[in-house]
Amino acid sequence: MRAEARIDLDAVRHNIAAVRGRAGSAEVMAVVKADAYGHGMVACARAAQQAGASWLGTAIPGEALRLRRAGLDGRILTWLWVPGDPFAEAVEADVDISVSALWALREVEDAARATGRTARVHLKADTGLGRNGCQPHDWAALVESALKAEADGLVQVVGLWSHFACADEPGHPSIALQLAAFRDAVDYAEQRGVTPEVRHMANSPATLLLPESHFDLVRSGLATYGVSPVPDLHTPAELGLRPAMTLAASVASVKRVPAGHGVSYGHTWHAEAESTLALVPVGYADGIPRHASSAGPVLIGGQRRTLVGRVAMDQFVVDLGDGTAEPGDEVILFGPGDRGEPTAEDWAQAAGTIAYEVVTRIGSRVPRVYLGAR
Ligand SMILES: *Cc1c(COP(=O)(O)O)cnc(C)c1O
Repeated sequence: MRAEARIDLDAVRHNIAAVRGRAGSAEVMAVVKADAYGHGMVACARAAQQAGASWLGTAIPGEALRLRRAGLDGRILTWLWVPGDPFAEAVEADVDISVSALWALREVEDAARATGRTARVHLKADTGLGRNGCQPHDWAALVESALKAEADGLVQVVGLWSHFACADEPGHPSIALQLAAFRDAVDYAEQRGVTPEVRHMANSPATLLLPESHFDLVRSGLATYGVSPVPDLHTPAELGLRPAMTLAASVASVKRVPAGHGVSYGHTWHAEAESTLALVPVGYADGIPRHASSAGPVLIGGQRRTLVGRVAMDQFVVDLGDGTAEPGDEVILFGPGDRGEPTAEDWAQAAGTIAYEVVTRIGSRVPRVYLGAR
């Protein structure tokens, strides 16, 4: 074993159960985009459904179609489309389509005609995020066009939705403004005759901290994988979550070097005294952040250590001082933390990023090994 990402599917099921506990009467969507934040999309989607997630969410249509090809049923919503995307395949595969603009509605109408099926669409309002979604001044036109397409039997507007900018900062003034803007958008659409099955706005931090944002459905991404979306406020354990990924590698070599020896490209680190160095055979090609050079933590032989020198494409070096290790010894880069190992959040801090990015970027060269598959 050079390196592997162990994915605890019992933890995924536990986290979905915890999210359901927080969500009250709202249904739960497990967001499995980006290969389930690096955890493996199909296996995590199955585990999430086993624990009662009645919806799956993906960013791009290829992800949703892959879920269907793998045999997953139930509702799937996909929200990030470009012109020319496989709208007809999505309609054929019973994938719900998010529509933020008229061009996308036209594509969905064409797909409905081509397949002879009624497309399920969720109209997305930009309530302040400033990213995807329809601006308030374009909302009336989008709603009217969607109702027209509904009257023609081409689409069914099954969802009204939006997304927060700052749900991870409770009390941020944008939160109340976005909620009010969303209520306005929903009220307008419903008064015009839209009858949505689900209205939804909450991502993981809103699901965990903002009950008034739950509406009919919550979209749980990071929380599904047991990582805290609000690390400055709560640990995963405080939120009832359990990190699902443990990233492990095997020591590739161990050697003694004299004082003053430089390590890795650029010699940004030198041994202060004679020292023992362990080579860990993972690098930025595997998703280890280069920004964590001389900062990333690991557990070797039961001891916390810090990597020294630059993270290279395929490897980095850990200084063991006068400690010892053998080639083949296990190195834990991160995990739940209950065996003393660092967490994804520790790596995020070492690299100046967020834990979302740490887990999602673990590369395809690292095999995923599933624990608790059923
Ligand atoms: C990624 C994403 C989510 C999930 O966000 P988390 O913070 O990981 O829960 C929800 N909704 C949309 C639109 C997203 O893009």
